Amino acid sequence: MDIQEIVSNQKAFFKTQKTKNIKFRKMYLEKLKELITKNEELLYKAIEQDFGKSRFDTFTTEISFVLKDIEYYIKNLKSLSKPKKVSTNLANQIGRSLIYPEPLGCVLVIGAWNYPYQLSLSPLIAALAAGNCSILKPSEIAENTMRAMSQIINENFPPEYIYVYEGGIEETTDLLKLKFDKIFFTGSTKVGKIIYKAAAENLTPVTLELGGKSPVIVTKEANLEVSAKRIIWGKFLNAGQTCVAPDYLLVEESVQEQFLEMLRKYIKEFKYEPDSQQYTRIINKKNFQRLVQLINKDNIYFGGNYNEDKLYIEPTILTNVNWQDDVMQEEIFGPILPVISFSSFNQTMNVISELEKPLAAYLFSNNSEEKEIFKQKISFGGGCINDVIMHLSNDNLPFGGVGNSGMGNYHGRYGFETFSHLKSVLEKVTWGEPDIKYPPYSEKKLNWIKKLL
Ligand code: NAD
Repeated sequence: MDIQEIVSNQKAFFKTQKTKNIKFRKMYLEKLKELITKNEELLYKAIEQDFGKSRFDTFTTEISFVLKDIEYYIKNLKSLSKPKKVSTNLANQIGRSLIYPEPLGCVLVIGAWNYPYQLSLSPLIAALAAGNCSILKPSEIAENTMRAMSQIINENFPPEYIYVYEGGIEETTDLLKLKFDKIFFTGSTKVGKIIYKAAAENLTPVTLELGGKSPVIVTKEANLEVSAKRIIWGKFLNAGQTCVAPDYLLVEESVQEQFLEMLRKYIKEFKYEPDSQQYTRIINKKNFQRLVQLINKDNIYFGGNYNEDKLYIEPTILTNVNWQDDVMQEEIFGPILPVISFSSFNQTMNVISELEKPLAAYLFSNNSEEKEIFKQKISFGGGCINDVIMHLSNDNLPFGGVGNSGMGNYHGRYGFETFSHLKSVLEKVTWGEPDIKYPPYSEKKLNWIKKLL
């Protein structure tokens, strides 16, 4: 069966109304949960083969994430799907107003390789919870995880409901020629633009979950010890291949030396060694070479070693970095942390606010004025004060970018709404019809209307 046929079968299946049934959605969400749990070993093995990700990291940042999503939707599906009654304005009396969340139809989810399970399955789960049929196209760069997902899903779900389509650029380009009711894309800003253009041809709505250079700022008002520990964890998790990883560090000059020492201490303590369980590999040679070129030997404060055969790059801290340096031009997406010091917090906020809006931003400070300025002045997708990355683990917070880092959001109820159309319905009674709005008009009627409105 070719993909065109599968998509048209999904559209036909959607029209049967079966996916609008809450029991149906719950049944398949339960089934997916069961399959993920049953195939946990297969999932660990595939990701280990792709880029050496440990069982610990795979469970905490991928599998538990996806299972939590399924549980959230199973638990909240009834209330999320329920029509919401809202108040009705005077002009529409006597009547009632309701918002009906309705599924969009056949949606396309395109995933990225760096958290291959989470970034493919989380949007897929939200799409199914909202009552859609879906084609999932995971990233071909993490080939084994792509296969594992297609094996688990395609062998157990009807293709007219959910189907995993394996493929790279060529296959995705073909896929984009088909008409979907929504495209949810996770990946780079560059490819995001290609997706957006293709979607425009069919006026298909899109959610674009993109990347960018996410800053972390540490001021002298921060708890330096805790900040160092949290930043090192967040930066080198997945070997820096995390969309919301702190990309670069801005540290107040007066505490720079002391802070760098603490960063060094935690890198050592976390034992990010070549054959250690704690540390993920770089995904492929292309990215490895790109990253190695960003390590300017004159700037190395810590690390800088690498091994191409093992696709290992040591956690690396670069100091005396300038805004003009290569490492400051594009998202790093690897285990290199450039550090720039500053003497004026306000000036630094001004500099950041002139850059492209990042997916995340982080401030470490216990000073309320600094926190306020950070929140007010910098536009970013989402972020934390006194932590990194963890905001995305709270389902009550929408997750998504702004400007160059994307559009739209998901997680929890936001994921459900992303894959729903909020249909407004005003329902009126047919008795009692004041003729004030109807012609022929008169000054008297206008005066009444002025009073009422
Ligand atoms: P990518 O843009 O190269 O690939 C993403 C997807 O697009 C893949 O499925 C790929 O097959 C497809 N693709 C690639 N080139 C294409 C083309 N020319 N035409 C059509 N489809 C194409 O991104 P990546 O390397 O997988 O991921 C890294 C980027 O994604 C980083 O910028 C990172 O910040 C971002 N990212 C964002 C999030 C988020 O949630 N906002 C999460 C993870 C990664």
